[in-house]
Amino acid sequence: MEFRFELALAAHLEATTDWLIARQLGGAVANPGSRIMDLCCVRPGAEFEERTAITSHTIPPLAIESDVGAGAATDWRTAVDCSTEHARSVVDRAVDCGFFEVERRNGRRYVRQTTRYPDWIGSLVGIENKPDLDRPGDLDRQLRVDIALGLFDEVILATESYVTRAHLNRLPEPVGVWRFDPDSDEMKIVREPTPLSTDEPGIEPTNAEPLRTDIAVVDAEAKARKRRRIAERAYGKGWRSYDLPACEHAEVTDDGRPYCGFYDRVVDPATDCGESCSGYEPSEPPEIDLEQLRAERSPWVADPDGITRSQSGLGRFQ
Ligand code: SF4
Repeated sequence: MEFRFELALAAHLEATTDWLIARQLGGAVANPGSRIMDLCCVRPGAEFEERTAITSHTIPPLAIESDVGAGAATDWRTAVDCSTEHARSVVDRAVDCGFFEVERRNGRRYVRQTTRYPDWIGSLVGIENKPDLDRPGDLDRQLRVDIALGLFDEVILATESYVTRAHLNRLPEPVGVWRFDPDSDEMKIVREPTPLSTDEPGIEPTNAEPLRTDIAVVDAEAKARKRRRIAERAYGKGWRSYDLPACEHAEVTDDGRPYCGFYDRVVDPATDCGESCSGYEPSEPPEIDLEQLRAERSPWVADPDGITRSQSGLGRFQ
């Protein structure tokens, strides 16, 4: 149910906003796996076009955070803050995606940015999906972490349930609330979110035992780094990050959601499909280019020309 709801909401937001939308990205800093945000949305900022011109992929965060600048070329081994092996792979990917270029000097390779990293992230919206509020799971803890940490500019709870006054009173005050119907696509803003202070330090609970909560103070710089990582990941990944079912009954909705003609509904290929399904009939998955669909329906650019500043930048780093 949650997958169907999540995809319907992602498709709705893609059709009604200019946001970049991705699913299931880490939303914590000190203990990165401890909070996964259902939908991470980026509102494009002033230099968004400059970002789309570089690459359709995620630019490796360590490349952006490295000492490699757009001016003089730098020895890659000392410029990236990690082991040499990892640095090599980060630099390889940065060259492949057109963010770094290589220069040879005295038989050694030096790298520099093809362009300054643009200021393209307008703001981040984190959406927690809880279709059924009568089964809230870990909702309280999740939203309290989001508010105390302040990584997203806005945090929103999206639900299919009728939202009562009692529900609203239980939720942290800054959390916005949307009621969304995945079948009719109808959306009602029950409460607007209050913007959070993303450029101030935040507090992240790092464990939650009954009588004890450890916390980490996350400084503004670490938050800024994580925000950029989320935005880059969202840009590269998008929300159609699933394999379509290899089944005779598999179809695709106009906006690219996996649809089952046997059950007449959107399905989660990872959990609904395969031999355990009574309707399963092995076949090739539907032929559709999900990336092309994304390019047509969102501000993401599939295949930019890239930025080449000098001929010496051509060719893969080795
Ligand atoms: S495996 Fe089952 S749920 Fe998936 S498309 Fe086929 S019939 Fe539908």
